[in-house]
Amino acid sequence: MNDLSSALAHFESHRTAHLNSLKELVRIPSVSFPGFDPAPLKKSAAAVSELLKKNGLTDVRILDTGGHPSVFAQWTEAAGKPTVLLYAHHDVQPTGREELWASPPFEPAERNGRLYGRGVSDDKGGAILHIAAIGSYLKSGGRLPVNVKVLIEGEEEVGSTNLNKLLLQHRELFSADIVVIADSENFDSGVPSLTASLRGIVTVNVEVRSLSSSVHSGTWGGPLPDPVIALSKMLASLLDDQGRPAIRGLFDKVRPLSTREKADLAGLPFNEDIYRKQSNIADGVQIIGGEESVYEKMWNLPSIAVNVIEASSRKQASNIVNDCVYARVGIRIVPDMDPSETLELLENHLLKHAPWGVKVKIEAENPSRWWKTDTNGKVFEAARAALEKGYEKKPAVVGAGGSIPFVQTITEALGGAPALLFGVGDPYSAAHSENESLLITDWEKACKSMIHLLSGLSLDGL
Ligand SMILES: [Zn+2]
Repeated sequence: MNDLSSALAHFESHRTAHLNSLKELVRIPSVSFPGFDPAPLKKSAAAVSELLKKNGLTDVRILDTGGHPSVFAQWTEAAGKPTVLLYAHHDVQPTGREELWASPPFEPAERNGRLYGRGVSDDKGGAILHIAAIGSYLKSGGRLPVNVKVLIEGEEEVGSTNLNKLLLQHRELFSADIVVIADSENFDSGVPSLTASLRGIVTVNVEVRSLSSSVHSGTWGGPLPDPVIALSKMLASLLDDQGRPAIRGLFDKVRPLSTREKADLAGLPFNEDIYRKQSNIADGVQIIGGEESVYEKMWNLPSIAVNVIEASSRKQASNIVNDCVYARVGIRIVPDMDPSETLELLENHLLKHAPWGVKVKIEAENPSRWWKTDTNGKVFEAARAALEKGYEKKPAVVGAGGSIPFVQTITEALGGAPALLFGVGDPYSAAHSENESLLITDWEKACKSMIHLLSGLSLDGL
């Protein structure tokens, strides 16, 4: 048997042990939110570190981040082979409403092929995925096909506050050629999925004022410009009649999809009923934005949302012309849109559409950049092949409409190293919600894929 088959065989005969390790981690209530006891984070970092040692790693460290601890480990004896950094996190979200859980959140329970408990899929299942893959090699053949570094973070659910500092502080320790991030979910149960892109965002806070104080709408209404109507005109001009963003120049820098990317998108099954249900769109309301598929619109094209409008309030509704109105407007950006240029286009558009000389004040928030990996490179090919072998099904290549700040943080700190994003959950995992769960067979398939991937990444010329 070669190293790969021995590792796969070792996993087969030890999967219950790895599942039990996952259960052991889930029993630790490592909620990283402020106001929660920080002690369990120390306990879960220690438990992760013990599991890494138990699975054959000797250089294992708990890193003090200034916040909750992260765990680092490495095995670097594969001379001449690439170095792969494996990322997951051991902190979890709060439980939400505990009375809604069918079994207690920190007591893992198996029902109908799923494992229930806080963190089973987000992201303790991801941590065990890495640990199981490493152990399967080290415990069967004593070596790994590539150099491996492991980072199990303790603060992902609170925005990875100290991650950038940590990566810079230990630049040498974390240096790697490829990053594998196990913290996203599959497109559907049993469908392995690689996340190839994340949108960025630019946000502005707009204030429109036409009076120095609100006045009686009966006494004064008529000649005075109502700032709420002025802002409504400005906001309405952001989309055309088809619901497509109408800011001039907004699409100029949008990178056209490659033939491969178009094929990946076209390969995704679309079911309007499921989409309507999952997106919470009300009955009879149209899907807007033009001819492109909903996935292209969510992942590969810019979109605009007005998050807040505030003038008077429903509670204090009275017959007035408001003095001013406030709105928060965000644009999701995609490759190759430049955040500051987008900001400028948005500001100019709003100013240009402000009627009647109303006073407009616009303040921008810090933008976040989009992220995209090369889906044509050898690394991505290796990931496609590994997932197909582990799941015995062709992987879906998906995007994420939102941003995951730590992905940019890690890849930038590693000098733009290619990153592979996949995970162990599925759309029924209810990550961040009550009754979080994990489809156990998918988790096992993900573990096998990870074993294949480590071998796939050891090929020369990567
Ligand atoms: Zn997560």
